[in-house]
Formats: sequence, C-alpha cells, structure tokens
Amino acid sequence: MSLGIEVLIPEQDVRDRIQEIADALSEKYAGEEVLLVGILNGSVFFLTELAQKMNVPVEIDFMAASSYGSGTESSGRVLITKDLERSIKGAHVVIVEDIVDTGQTLHLLTEMLLERQPASLEVCVLLDKPARRKVCMDADFIGFEIPDAFVVGWGLDYDQKYRDLPYIGVIKEQ
Ligand code: 5GP
Repeated sequence: MSLGIEVLIPEQDVRDRIQEIADALSEKYAGEEVLLVGILNGSVFFLTELAQKMNVPVEIDFMAASSYGSGTESSGRVLITKDLERSIKGAHVVIVEDIVDTGQTLHLLTEMLLERQPASLEVCVLLDKPARRKVCMDADFIGFEIPDAFVVGWGLDYDQKYRDLPYIGVIKEQ
C-alpha cells in the first residue's frame, strides 16, 4: 500500500488568501511595528510568505513547542522546547501558526505570552480544523477552515516530509 496526496487547497488559492491576510494585518497595524512569532517548524513557510506580503515593518522570532504524554493522543500538556530570543513587553505580537487543531498548543502559548505584557497579542493561522477542538481557541486571522483530515504542505508534515509542498494536500492510502 502506498500513500498519495490529494490537493485540498491549490497553491494559488493559498497565496491569494495569504495576501488577503497580509493586507488585513497591514491595515490593522498601520503606523506600528509588528513582531511575528512563528511556532516551529510548521509555521515557517506561512510566516515567510506573510511577512513578505505585509507592508508594515515586521520583526520575526520563533518558539517551539511539543505536546507530551504517552500514546498517540495528546495529553493536553505542552512543553516549550525553544523560547523567544527577545522580550515582547510593549510589542504588538502576532503568533503565526500552521494549524489550530485541538487548540491546546495555541491556548497555552497565548496564555504564556500574555503574561509577558505585550502591547497587543493576536493569533494568525493558515488552517483551522474546528471539528477536533478540545479547548476554546479562536484565532483572530484564519486562512481556511478545513474538515477533519490530516493535511500536509505549507509547513505541515507527515513524518517530517511534504512540508515544502506549495499546496495543501490530504494524505490518501492507495
Ligand atoms: P493543536 O492540536 O495543539 O491545536 O495542534 C498541534 C499541532 O498538531 C499543530 O501545530 C500541527 O503541527 C499538528 N497538526 C494538527 N493537525 C495537523 C494536520 O492535519 N497535519 C499535520 N501535518 N499536522 C497537524
């Protein structure tokens, strides 16, 4: 049995939507500087495209988190494996993430960053999979709402592969 990938969201649709989000962010933060906080590794492709399309000054920094526990189901706990390099006190921060699924990662990261007293904190995700939500997590900027399927591309991996696909695909067994 081999794996194939079915296109869920074509490349141009993704790029067009990122442009729309970049425009909305540029309008919201007009006259300000923005710190984009990417969550490694999945956010990298989305963050890069977003930053290049925004027309307000941006800085970037990264965090990494992994959920821990036993078995395949997330325990609901999240471990920070890489923290930011700088203080965010007084900064306009936008967390940039590939996908919000159960919501646990972004819920925890949002709480953690709010304690550091940014001037503002918003959450921007390329994909939203609301069917699997376990904790309340509403992103402020959402690229696409998708059904409950395992997706790859634009930073999202399957066993560390397919992150570089320029479209969003669904893995299918053939
Ligand atoms: P959470 O469940 O905490 O909202 O999401 C945690 C992480 O699970 C996401 O950042 C992402 O790395 C991963 N994830 C969730 N759904 C998918 C998916 O459909 N495909 C891939 N490749 N990763 C996913």
